[in-house]
Amino acid sequence: MLYASTRGGSPAVSSAQAIVEGLAPDGGLYTMNPADLPKLDLSALLDLAYPALAAKVLAALLPDFSEPEAKALVEKAYQDKFSTPLITPLTDTGSDLFLELYHGPTSAFKDVALCLLPWLMTASAAKLGNREDILILTATSGDTGKAALEGFRDVDGIRILVFYPRDGVSAVQRAQMVTQAGRNVKVCAVEGNFDDAQSGVKQIFETVHDGLSSANSINIGRLVPQVVYYFAAYAAAVRSGRIAAGEPLNFCVPTGNFGDILAGYLAGELGLPVGKLICASNANDVLTDFIRTGRYDRRRPFHKTLSPSMDILISSNLERLLYLLSEGDSALVASLMAQLKQDGWYQVPDALLEKIQSRFEAFCCDDAATVAAIRQVWNEQHYLIDTHTAVGWQAVEAFGRDKGPTVILSTASPYKFPGAVCAALGLACDGDEFAGMEAIERSTGVAMPSNLRGLRDRAVLHTDCVAPADMTAYVLEKKAEPTWNL
Ligand SMILES: *Cc1c(COP(=O)(O)O)cnc(C)c1O
Repeated sequence: MLYASTRGGSPAVSSAQAIVEGLAPDGGLYTMNPADLPKLDLSALLDLAYPALAAKVLAALLPDFSEPEAKALVEKAYQDKFSTPLITPLTDTGSDLFLELYHGPTSAFKDVALCLLPWLMTASAAKLGNREDILILTATSGDTGKAALEGFRDVDGIRILVFYPRDGVSAVQRAQMVTQAGRNVKVCAVEGNFDDAQSGVKQIFETVHDGLSSANSINIGRLVPQVVYYFAAYAAAVRSGRIAAGEPLNFCVPTGNFGDILAGYLAGELGLPVGKLICASNANDVLTDFIRTGRYDRRRPFHKTLSPSMDILISSNLERLLYLLSEGDSALVASLMAQLKQDGWYQVPDALLEKIQSRFEAFCCDDAATVAAIRQVWNEQHYLIDTHTAVGWQAVEAFGRDKGPTVILSTASPYKFPGAVCAALGLACDGDEFAGMEAIERSTGVAMPSNLRGLRDRAVLHTDCVAPADMTAYVLEKKAEPTWNL
């Protein structure tokens, strides 16, 4: 199984090469040919512990890795980093099923992939005989940055540079990043929003090819580890008797760059009985409109919301879905992406829209509904959720509970977004997120994750800030520096 560019303008490469390169040279995203996807034997997976399950999924999607090799990498990657050996536990509140993806080192779901990506990347580089240092460039809407920094810090042969939108992340998210230690890490603010930061990074990839890679979900090595927890959730729902083996299970995914939900689609293609995939958005509802009409139109106001990791109008991984559902029609994908870049919108052919709608549904909600969801779930189920998960919960309200059980992907700890959680619970925090975290813990008794404790008092180590137009120059300058000792 090779990985081809979704835009067809550069040669197909091995899975190891795709991970090392990140983005294809023609600007497309490395994606497998849908006809090459194997079907996994579900009955052989349901009783496996997480590393063994992960190894089966990884080996199926990344043929350069054998199952034993993948298992060893997964064990090393997650050991001591997650606060539960289940890695991604499924909580059944009696009414709703929440897949808790935030028990890793930075309390967001991105840890699941970003703890493993450095291991996949160094192993891939070794397979290719690569000796040169790799510079990882990452644009973050808040959570990827910290998770990538934690994943890659002090990994030999790799440096990592993270760009975040200066005014687009929460105080907790910013503090997590600017206090990051490590001899190979750098963090820089961008005077713009996430789309500016992400477009800047893509631009740098198009200008500078050598020695760069990405920790964003444009890297297939980011996506593949996320496929695993759909299987883990399904297995947990079977074991607890919520569903019978073989019965479909819906998944609702708070969505930004379309990476997490695309992993769910891939799980279905590997044979997992996935019912509907419900795409949940905040006021940045470009995906809701797209899934309902087939028209993707980013020419709309950008909203800063209480769920900032989903404040995105250019959803990168949708390109992969178009490629997969059009059976690898790279000419179509290339022309749609060119139109998006030039005109700001595109419309997919009817046949493609029908396929999308047979698998996906989409809903959005505003900040008021987000806060109301946190309050209602706490009051009725005594279960505390973050703002992103709250958007997912509202989507399930709209989707309905009469269409079979639905797993809501819980993508972050509520302690990462204390302002909104305090508002929902009626706790005063006077705009101080750190005081808010303590108030939540006192009031709910839900333990604060240890990595977030004491955050306010850690030393700020990164203060750089650039305009979007200066990102390339900044990267070239930093790349040329022999070391980054702080
Ligand atoms: C990144 C993120 C999302 C969106 O995930 P995508 O893969 O970009 O769709 C949702 N919730 C949280 C908390 C995140 O950090």
